[in-house]
Amino acid sequence: MTTLGHERGGSATIAHLRYRRQFEALVELAREKGRDHDPAVRQELAWCHTHVEIMRYQGMRLMAQLAEGREPGPEASVSKLFWSEYERRVGEIAAELLGAEALVRPEGEGYRTSHWQGVFLAARAGTIYSGTSEIQRNIIAERALGLPREPAAVTR
Ligand SMILES: Cc1cc2nc3c(=O)[nH]c(=O)nc-3n(C[C@H](O)[C@H](O)[C@H](O)COP(=O)(O)OP(=O)(O)OC[C@H]3O[C@@H](n4cnc5c(N)ncnc54)[C@H](O)[C@@H]3O)c2cc1C
Repeated sequence: MTTLGHERGGSATIAHLRYRRQFEALVELAREKGRDHDPAVRQELAWCHTHVEIMRYQGMRLMAQLAEGREPGPEASVSKLFWSEYERRVGEIAAELLGAEALVRPEGEGYRTSHWQGVFLAARAGTIYSGTSEIQRNIIAERALGLPREPAAVTR
């Protein structure tokens, strides 16, 4: 559990840096597609911006906790759930901006994908590895919120 806590929590301290760069690339994509003045697109971009800022604050909070020598607790699950669900939405927003282009793979050998196709597809795995979103929600419910444990099979 300690190892998993570090896997989920450790990178959360700097995750916002990656998502900030990705957000800037998404804004650039909106500009390239001439959609940066579209109110619906701007709302999606504002949503992304606030999420990256939340990750930055959460990262600082986690960093302070680690600096005090405290192990990452259920907050690691909050971070993992947050960034993985966020990135799925980013992949969807990018696909919406690309339109039909999102469905056409680049020419070339092997299973090539464009940058944003890669983001979209990898984000699907993000909510599975390091523990699925459902498992993170269970951890948050039981260990952070103190809700009753989910029923488990009785083993003899
Ligand atoms: C790209 C990728 C990389 C990976 N890398 C590694 C790695 O490096 N090392 C490693 O050890 N593993 C790795 N994994 C495995 C990963 O940790 C597991 O796939 C993940 O923990 C889910 O376990 P599972 O596949 O057995 O699914 P299952 O546990 O069988 O879950 C199947 C479905 O049931 C849901 N579910 C299961 N239990 C519950 C529950 N109690 N409550 C509610 N819903 C539940 C899950 O959320 C999921 O939707 C990787 C997986 C992927 C996709």
